[in-house]
Amino acid sequence: MPIPTDAAPTAFWLAGREATGEATFDVTSPWDGRLVGTVSVPTEAQVEEAVAASVAVQEELAATPAHVRAAALDHVHRRLVERTEEIARLISAENGKPMKWARGEVGRAVSVFRFAAEEARRFNGGEAQRLDTDAGGAGRLALTRRFPRGTVLGIAPFNFPLNLCAHKIAPAIAAGAPIILKPAPATPLSGLILGELLAETDLPAGSWSILPVPNDRMPALVQDERLPVVSFTGSEKVGYAILDSVPRKHCTLELGGNGAAVVLPDFSSEADLDWAAQRIATFSNYQGGQSCISVQRVIADASVYDRLVPKIVAAVEAQVTGDPSDDATEVGPLVNEDAAQRVESWVDEAVERGAKLLAGGKRDGASYAPTVLEDVPADATLACEEVFGPVLTLKKVDGEAAAFAAVNDSKFGLQAGVFTHDVQTAFRAHRALEVGGVIIGDVPSYRADQMPYGGVKQSGVGREGVRFAMDDYTYERVLVLTGL
Ligand code: NAD
Repeated sequence: MPIPTDAAPTAFWLAGREATGEATFDVTSPWDGRLVGTVSVPTEAQVEEAVAASVAVQEELAATPAHVRAAALDHVHRRLVERTEEIARLISAENGKPMKWARGEVGRAVSVFRFAAEEARRFNGGEAQRLDTDAGGAGRLALTRRFPRGTVLGIAPFNFPLNLCAHKIAPAIAAGAPIILKPAPATPLSGLILGELLAETDLPAGSWSILPVPNDRMPALVQDERLPVVSFTGSEKVGYAILDSVPRKHCTLELGGNGAAVVLPDFSSEADLDWAAQRIATFSNYQGGQSCISVQRVIADASVYDRLVPKIVAAVEAQVTGDPSDDATEVGPLVNEDAAQRVESWVDEAVERGAKLLAGGKRDGASYAPTVLEDVPADATLACEEVFGPVLTLKKVDGEAAAFAAVNDSKFGLQAGVFTHDVQTAFRAHRALEVGGVIIGDVPSYRADQMPYGGVKQSGVGREGVRFAMDDYTYERVLVLTGL
């Protein structure tokens, strides 16, 4: 729903109602630089009003019956279905995401709100524990229930501008916790549109705000003691700076990765290798490689490597690049030209240091061609950091143990994919790999929105996936009954 240049700026959502501030900022298309929208920025007084309202509503929201909160969440998922095409166009316009993936993102946000409605109905059933297992506990019973920690500060990145906002807001409402959501500056419109749908519900005023606060004002909000939970999705650098600034808060950090896809000797028929190559090519490039679980590293056993590589190169070269508003496009631009220049410099550095370029390696403005390299030096930036672009590195290894060691040879640990048919290998991979999720028979990029999702090592702490975020937004409080 791009707005014309002379239209009023898009409002933000302050305690459940529309509001505008004094300043604005522009949102432009990464594809052609056109103005997609102008967004109003909340003043400091308006941010204060939202925080105070969220604190004031805490008891009322926690006491709002599950059926009311579930009905609100169901309303949002139904409205997202009705408005899919319009919202997908908005995501595509501000983010540069091809329409095919933008429609998929709306579909995932639908699922997140639907799961949240279901979880709201069953959450907090509690648990009874007998205490008479020791003499001192005779006649006693413990009951546990979960209660909100307080207002959640949700901070979202640009790469899934709708769905990662959904992953903050929906579990908060389901758990009865107020939330202040901060969308990414490059892509605020997709998050703000959720406000239109939430405003149609009966949720108590103050229980949610969506505020495009500028980055330089975020530290004050992060440190506000009235916001005990910070749920952050974004880069390693910003995430750990937040954690360091508020070590005593409950922080969840969903950070970056350099996802590995392992291809093992038993995955060796023509059909197997065709499937692996196709999935690897698609999910190293979808949305310009700007997914935290994109395939960045292929680690293939020597017995299949030479047959796999040409298939990967052919599948990568067949990716349809171009205008994200075109239904046929698979790979659009990166979020801006700076991002594409950074990717270019990392590829150039690897090539200068001896890496072999098998495909791509070219930049055009904010677009970077789907790229494949092999023999990347182990200490090249491309081998050590998250590329967050359409770039794949290939490595040949001997045997399963070497493959798993190569996956673990990374400061990140988000998800890994293992192409194997063998169930014993699957269990060994599950045990050996230092990641938050192991995907057997597919790339690391598979995510279902109800699954626990998150990383280890520098990929972060805590889990999303609706119920798991609800656990993070709440804490268990025990009630001990005596004299039974
Ligand atoms: P980013 O860290 O630059 O920004 C993320 C959010 O933090 C934005 O809303 C930004 O405005 C805000 N921010 C910036 N400075 C801040 C500060 N000082 N205090 C508080 N907030 C601040 O990340 P990005 O470029 O938007 O997103 C890309 C990154 O996100 C990648 O590293 C990617 O891997 C990661 N990511 C992780 C997951 C996951 O679930 N693990 C999912 C998607 C993206």
